[in-house]
Amino acid sequence: MAKDTVLTAEEVIEQASKYLSGSDLEFIRRAYQFAEKAHSEQYRKSGEPYIIHPIQVAGILVNLEMDPETVAGGFLHDVVEDTDITLEEIEEAFNTEVSMLVDGVTKLGKIKYKSKEEQQAENHRKMFVAMAKDIRVILIKLADRLHNMRTLKHLPAEKQRRISNETLEIFAPLAHRLGISTIKWELEDTALRYLNPQQYYRIVHLMKQKRNEREHYIEEVIDEIRSQLKDVNIDADLHGRPKHLYSIYRKMVIQNKQFNEIYDLLAVRITVNSIKDCYAVLGIIHTCWKPMPGRFKDYIAMPKPNLYQSLHTTVIGPKGDPLEVQIRTHEMHEIAEYGIAAHWAYKEGKPVSTERSFEEKLTWFREILDWQSETHDAEEFMESLKVDLFSDMVYVFTPKGDVIELPSGSVPIDFAYRIHTEVGNQTIGAKVNGKMEPLDYELKTGDIIEVMTSKHSYGPSKDWINLAQTSQAKNKIRQFFKKQRKDENITKGKELVDKEIRNFNIQPKEVYTSDNLKRVAEKFNFTNDEDMFAAVGYQGITAAQIATRLTEKIRKQKQKEQNLEQTLADVSTTEIKTSPKPSKKDSGVRVEGVDNLLVRLSKCCNPVPGDDIIGYITKGRGVSVHRTDCLNVQTEEAQTRLLPVEWETSATDSKQYHVDLEIWGYDRRGLLNEVLQAVNETKTNITAVSGKSDRNKMATIHITILIQNTSHLRKIVERIKQIQEVYTVRRVMQ
Ligand code: MN
Repeated sequence: MAKDTVLTAEEVIEQASKYLSGSDLEFIRRAYQFAEKAHSEQYRKSGEPYIIHPIQVAGILVNLEMDPETVAGGFLHDVVEDTDITLEEIEEAFNTEVSMLVDGVTKLGKIKYKSKEEQQAENHRKMFVAMAKDIRVILIKLADRLHNMRTLKHLPAEKQRRISNETLEIFAPLAHRLGISTIKWELEDTALRYLNPQQYYRIVHLMKQKRNEREHYIEEVIDEIRSQLKDVNIDADLHGRPKHLYSIYRKMVIQNKQFNEIYDLLAVRITVNSIKDCYAVLGIIHTCWKPMPGRFKDYIAMPKPNLYQSLHTTVIGPKGDPLEVQIRTHEMHEIAEYGIAAHWAYKEGKPVSTERSFEEKLTWFREILDWQSETHDAEEFMESLKVDLFSDMVYVFTPKGDVIELPSGSVPIDFAYRIHTEVGNQTIGAKVNGKMEPLDYELKTGDIIEVMTSKHSYGPSKDWINLAQTSQAKNKIRQFFKKQRKDENITKGKELVDKEIRNFNIQPKEVYTSDNLKRVAEKFNFTNDEDMFAAVGYQGITAAQIATRLTEKIRKQKQKEQNLEQTLADVSTTEIKTSPKPSKKDSGVRVEGVDNLLVRLSKCCNPVPGDDIIGYITKGRGVSVHRTDCLNVQTEEAQTRLLPVEWETSATDSKQYHVDLEIWGYDRRGLLNEVLQAVNETKTNITAVSGKSDRNKMATIHITILIQNTSHLRKIVERIKQIQEVYTVRRVMQ
């Protein structure tokens, strides 16, 4: 392919006459004339008439010996996008096939690509193939891109880089997959020139430097091989293999090699008539020069996934340098250069549709692919090509332009769960291309999907399992329901255990330390306490069992204390009376008519000065002070043990009292912070904070604060209530 010569339409048609019939030539000439008229007022960035571009594109396709429809498609490929001509007019003037090809190329032009990580590049390539539907659309697009790259110098630098990047990430790999190495190499080399001009020109320079020396050496080698082959009567073409800058660049960059360390700078290609000759030539080469171990590859017996066939070997050449040799038949060489295009090439008088139908070609293609499916590469290749041949995937965009691959038949629910489990669980609707669609809308390649979510969503509905197409989405929906039941069981189980613990006259808070919970959970073989409470919830284990274990330590301890106090009370009452720190001072509570009684504030209701209080005579532990509304003093048994107490006003100024507050509200960002700040502003000490949020984003915050009296407390509660999204604040009694 001549890069620098600009062909005229006549030259293209002249070249096509080598393989097309008279009527076919007339067909493509008409396509040219149609395009010429349509683009007549347009010019390229270079200042040339626009039509020059489609002519070159058609020229590249003729070089690949494509069928008349594809060549016509090359002439017409920009007509719909850039002029007023419609697809219908093209169909009328030519045929459905041509309009289909032009439509395909136009659609591909609309896919926007931003450089992304490799997986995204791969998805974009697949999307390209999926949207193209017909492989010939890709061939036209490759020819289009090739000519655009050849004329890239007319564009601003920023655009040059963007287009070069896209070429390297999308188009060159596509050309490679299709085995069209001539196009692949040129795309890569040109892209490198714009993306890394320094390296590009450095390699050009290095290659030039020793070119004479190298060429001379290669000539010697070729002469030697030629004389050897003559002896055994093998007819062969020998060439010094042309070098591709980009492959040298990659080797230097990726393998971190010096320029002169790259073996295949010295390379010879031998093309022969038969496979038998290939192996015969290999034998001769290996007899002449010592082969390097591990460098022999038989791609004839084991073709590469893109259908490439050849023998590769590296030998220690006559001057002691590694020399790479490739041996193949002429037919293999054709495929090596033109890949799939070589198979698609049009033979005169035998149009694609009759000689070998499209379907037949697909069958042939499938066979090749199946036959190669053993190797990993082949599998990958098949994956990437089967999308258009079997079209079992759809490719859709996120609003940000990422491409998501899903099995065909997928619906917005699949898309949502592919993005993130939480997105799936909170989905309430979906917009497709900006328009609301039902959740069972079947996604199409190219759709832009925007999932609508709500934090107040109650989660997926059960019938989504049937709507979803991917097992990923189905599993995640099932998991949600399983977890939801678990949450319910945890709550229920915890309530039951709380109740059992209280039966021991112990507050759950006292035994719910993380260590204690962990210890007991392990004792019953649960991985964590949530699993343990859940098991109580669904009655896999009784609450009493858990409560007994959880409270065993504290019960023993309390028993000990009780015994000790009992002993003290028995031995010496006077000692307590004369104690330098009478307990009443600590509590700030005076028992009417009685002095020096052991008085303590109960932990269940945490009374503070200002609260109505009552004393409760305990067995051997003095008087405990409760709020009059505390449930623990409402029992019938308690009534007989109550005695009136009052706050000692003098003591209340300095003493501080624990109060537990429960704050309930909507879990917006910063809520907890604002609560803490509000308390802080009242110059109140906080001794404990905990918070949790349920699946409806309702937050429950527990704080324990030190306060002086009820008016102090009221001030704090009022302050917290003013915080936005706080719904209730209450003092907690346990
Ligand atoms: Mn174009």
